[in-house]
Amino acid sequence: MTDKANGNEKVEDLIILGGGPAGYTAALYAARAELEPLVIEGFQWGGQLQNTTDVENYPGYPEGIMGPEMMTQFRAQAERFGTRFVTDDATEVELTDGGVHTVRVGKDTYRSRAVILSMGAEPKRLGIPGELELAGSGVSTCGVCDGAFFKGENVAVIGGGDSAMEDSIFVSKFAEKLFSIHRRDEYRASKIMQERARGKDNIEFLTPYVPVEFIAGDDGKIAKIRLRHAENGEETDLEVGGAFVAIGHRPRSELVEGQIDLDEEGYVTVEEPSTRTKLAGVFAVGDLVDHTYRQAVTAAGSGTKGALDAEWYLRDMPPDPEEHWGTNTGAIVEAVEAS
Ligand code: NAP
Repeated sequence: MTDKANGNEKVEDLIILGGGPAGYTAALYAARAELEPLVIEGFQWGGQLQNTTDVENYPGYPEGIMGPEMMTQFRAQAERFGTRFVTDDATEVELTDGGVHTVRVGKDTYRSRAVILSMGAEPKRLGIPGELELAGSGVSTCGVCDGAFFKGENVAVIGGGDSAMEDSIFVSKFAEKLFSIHRRDEYRASKIMQERARGKDNIEFLTPYVPVEFIAGDDGKIAKIRLRHAENGEETDLEVGGAFVAIGHRPRSELVEGQIDLDEEGYVTVEEPSTRTKLAGVFAVGDLVDHTYRQAVTAAGSGTKGALDAEWYLRDMPPDPEEHWGTNTGAIVEAVEAS
């Protein structure tokens, strides 16, 4: 659907922004409620699971499933009940308080009575010299996407959480040697993930070290990481052929910044336990609101809540006068006057 300028003034019931577990689950529920949701799923639809290999912790898959395959199934299930998709990135969003909301995707404009925000989160960066310059030249934020490119190399994975452990375990299959670098001696990762990583012969744990610079070699690719000891401040250079930054994620709330409430880290705040934002008809779900759990299954559960909240909102909101009375109001007035 496009806007007036493009020849179509249709107002959707529900637009869902984001194509990860939360967005597709919201779409599934909304589609089964006959809301015919429109999902602006992003050019790289599928969210973070698109960059994941085995998912072993989603109930119903006792043998595990690959992340991209799982997202394909989520999407297909939503489509089966009438969900429509725009496979591109939203570029602008104008939210109202109880009115019609507008979403732009380049030159196309979409409008709807309710919106579910499910844009998820993206990897955080260290913000050190060389990080952006060497992105794609040995510095990566996705071990499971890029690990296979580092066969036989010495590499580093930076971070102490589950993401860092997952990346380390995966990349260690390809790397000759992998250095796990963390700024504290205590890792934040779950015990099971740490144990799996510690069980790999080619992983060495270097703590407490803070990366201060990624340094390129003559070929323009990463050659060294300058590390500073977090306690004594001593600097040392570690020779590597690749570095994976796995230090967490940032919510992708920039499209709605200034329009709804965000917390200090940029997560959308909602009226818990509901998914309502401060604007009537605008709901937020998944990793966009979740600091803590950030699992596919919790995101999917949150998407369900968003769809139900949107459905109740649409059911209870006053009908559009034109839709309610129809276009032939003159005939109704005449009939009333004649009676
Ligand atoms: P996280 O738990 O927030 O861990 C981020 C890690 O990066 C922390 O160890 C943190 O250090 C470190 N860090 C942050 N900023 C840094 C900086 N500027 N310089 C150096 N180090 C920095 O993030 P996550 O690992 O992405 O995990 C997020 C959530 O997803 C967690 O709930 C996790 O359990 C879940 N998850 C689960 C799995 C799984 O079960 N398979 C996989 C991935 C993620 P400090 O510890 O010092 O703060």
